[in-house]
Amino acid sequence: MSFTDSAATRGSDDNRTEPVEAGGVLIGGREFVVIAGPCAIESEAQLLNTARAVADHGASLLRGGLFKLRTDPRSFQGLGLVGIDIAKAVRAATGLGLCAEITDPRHIEPLSDVVDIFQVGARNMHNYALLKELGQQSRPVLLKRGLSALIDEWLLAAEYLKSGGNSRIILCERGIRTFERRTRNTLDLSAVAYVKRHTSFPVLVDPSHGTGVPELMAPLCRAAAAVGADGLLIEVHIDPETARSDGEQALSAAGFAQAMAELRPILFALGRPLSGPPANRRSR
Ligand code: PEP
Ligand code: MN
Repeated sequence: MSFTDSAATRGSDDNRTEPVEAGGVLIGGREFVVIAGPCAIESEAQLLNTARAVADHGASLLRGGLFKLRTDPRSFQGLGLVGIDIAKAVRAATGLGLCAEITDPRHIEPLSDVVDIFQVGARNMHNYALLKELGQQSRPVLLKRGLSALIDEWLLAAEYLKSGGNSRIILCERGIRTFERRTRNTLDLSAVAYVKRHTSFPVLVDPSHGTGVPELMAPLCRAAAAVGADGLLIEVHIDPETARSDGEQALSAAGFAQAMAELRPILFALGRPLSGPPANRRSR
């Protein structure tokens, strides 16, 4: 079956996005939402300083994994549940909601204390046991596209969540594996245009895993907005050189500031203001 046969998809004439509220932020509304932060939570100072830097330059939500699925089992696997107290402290200090990856249904309960958006990573897009459990939750789920997943497979994974009763689903294009090696993956912006047109899910773009190349972040942030994405998921580290995972693709605070400065005129032209950090939202 093609997903486009399902009643859950909309025809291209009726493509109104149904926004999802997460951590006090509306994703998929008029405002463009940036979720930024480190690949992995490493320490309280690292997370807090990164969170402050990204909020200063327009991020609305913080990202940072406690459990990392790494291709090489010898690589840093994340702080695990030990990171929960760090995440709680930084969330309280900054007011930023947290988007963090969940890799195991057994972590739903402990992570529910601190996570505003459960991120399903590319490697778990086909983990139907995990999707079924998350479908029983009320918390929003950011569903990344699998490394080699067809659009239909991605949307059927979303259907697993939806059929369990959780319709707070945000799609995230993070690049697919192709023959190209200059970039880590090939960021498929045509898929973004397609799912925006044919489904009602909010859609984010992750240029960090999508390209793996810091100098390509600013142009692809601009392109993501222009193609109709509702926001970005982007890796920023206060000191990329010392990052314990994905440091080679992380933007520094200055790099992030530059990417956001280049994005603003595009958002202005599109009539989509940047959602911004909680302090901005309160003053509106
Ligand atoms: C991540 O966001 O850090 C991550 C591991 O992404 P992906 O699942 O897209 O590889
Ligand atoms: Mn990463």
